[in-house]
Amino acid sequence: MQVISDILPLREQRRQWQIEGKVIGFVPTMGNLHDGHLGLVKEAKKHCDVVVVSIFVNPMQFGPNEDLDAYPRTLENDKKSLEALGVTTLFTPKVDDIYARGLEQQTFVEVPGLSYMICGASRPGHFRGVATIVCKLFNMVQPNHAFFGEKDFQQLQIIKGMVQDLSMNLTVHGVPTKREDDGLAMSSRNHYLTPEERAIAPHIYTNLLGLVDEVKQGRRDFLALIAQYKEKLNQVGFKVDYIEIRSADTLLHPSHEETHLVILVAAFLGKTRLIDNIQVDLS
Ligand code: AMP
Repeated sequence: MQVISDILPLREQRRQWQIEGKVIGFVPTMGNLHDGHLGLVKEAKKHCDVVVVSIFVNPMQFGPNEDLDAYPRTLENDKKSLEALGVTTLFTPKVDDIYARGLEQQTFVEVPGLSYMICGASRPGHFRGVATIVCKLFNMVQPNHAFFGEKDFQQLQIIKGMVQDLSMNLTVHGVPTKREDDGLAMSSRNHYLTPEERAIAPHIYTNLLGLVDEVKQGRRDFLALIAQYKEKLNQVGFKVDYIEIRSADTLLHPSHEETHLVILVAAFLGKTRLIDNIQVDLS
């Protein structure tokens, strides 16, 4: 596996692949790789001749009181996992190269509407940081296909919106969420949990399944339903940020005829903010 940190050699490699007619797949990550990330790589390998994975902990998407400095960085282990999967190129750009003129002056990409709701309301500026780094990485790697996890469902919709709005020449693929055996969605942030918190964490998923059942059985008093499940999660030790039931296609509040829903949750366990979601097909 080739490891590239600078942008020029990446562009040169990209030019070579183009000459060879290779289909290029791209998986952007912040590292500390787990089976969720590796599932994206496996999916990319199905569609593409070469797979580029990036590892970049993006300061622009962290709020002032968030975990940028504490975010786990495990490059040597990550390299081993990617090598074992047969990844072609690992791209590890440096902050000073990505934001060469400084974050204050950085041109940004913002997908309005979608970026301000749900997680965006709790984390102002987060999705601007995500859209901007993904746009920049797309410009550097110029992939034919890019792969994102449904674990970050709103992020996936925002990236799809950006690609459509800016006529970017690539296909975005969503990959289902990988879970631990007890249902907890895999996440680098799970490492922050104490053993006691880790034991409570799977309640997010079991409560999402409970919500799905209720909706499938015909409950449509979503406000009451959400209040009931917030209470359930708070009772076992969470501090719920939000539970939302939305259209899976638009992320807007669903009409009565809507058949493809997504239920999204964000909740704190101690200082750790966990997110999860599940889609509901009523058709
Ligand atoms: P991150 O390193 O957290 O920025 O995530 C990089 C990519 O991996 C994003 O597209 C995430 O949605 C995806 N991802 C993270 N966790 C999971 C998971 N448990 N299952 C599937 N994809 C995931």
